[in-house]
Amino acid sequence: MRYVRFQRRGEDAVRLGWIEDERIGSIEGSLFGAHRRIPVTWPSSTVKLLSPLVPGKIVCVGRNYIEHAREHDAEVPEVPLLFLKPPSAVIGPHDPIILPLQSGQVEHEAELAVVIGRKARRIAPNEARDYIFGYTAANDVTARDLQHKDGQWTRAKSFDTFCPLGPWIDTQVDPGDLRITCRVNDQIRQMASTREMVFSVFQLMAFISGIMTLDAGDVLLTGTPAGVGPLQSGDSVQVEIEGIGILENPVVGAAVEPSATAIT
Ligand code: ZN
Repeated sequence: MRYVRFQRRGEDAVRLGWIEDERIGSIEGSLFGAHRRIPVTWPSSTVKLLSPLVPGKIVCVGRNYIEHAREHDAEVPEVPLLFLKPPSAVIGPHDPIILPLQSGQVEHEAELAVVIGRKARRIAPNEARDYIFGYTAANDVTARDLQHKDGQWTRAKSFDTFCPLGPWIDTQVDPGDLRITCRVNDQIRQMASTREMVFSVFQLMAFISGIMTLDAGDVLLTGTPAGVGPLQSGDSVQVEIEGIGILENPVVGAAVEPSATAIT
């Protein structure tokens, strides 16, 4: 099953739905609770897909692929290296990634995203599957210059538009061996398998749920493979995850506006 959030063209109402063979039906009820599927009604070309959920927490993992740690001359961590992105950074498919004035080096990070389906606290890796609702694609957009300058990562990871998610939540895919590909203007920048993760999705679920309770609607970003690189205004960036789909976003320059906060 593939779940979407969407608006029909010309309507303000945000709907939950499901997609099959490029046709979309709506859903009555709550995504993570009881709900009923209405038969598919609209061609997907007549709707605008939004981020497939509005997450609670977004818990992210740094350096979870050995080759990516090496490209930054960084150690592979002995335990998962965690950071958070704010829900305010989330955008949906085809929404623009806006380059902030404060950074001269914004980069893409293609990642598998895990959507939590129910409350998880101190779970074991072999229980993790029961707590996962599904999977989607994410781009952990990062202001690399600010990440290096600050030492800790909150500013570099948290600008508005720095967390594209989508295009839908797939509930069937197995996370163990999925190809992740990032293309910028149709050129391949990143390609690896989730099999190459240092800590698997289920190990990450166990580790994180031993620190903080995970709730339905929280999202985990599971780290990026080697090949991260710069984004420029005018680029189009795609994150493709095998078995899920393609998340595509244009990149635009910052709106030039006087701002007291644009201090680097
Ligand atoms: Zn990342």
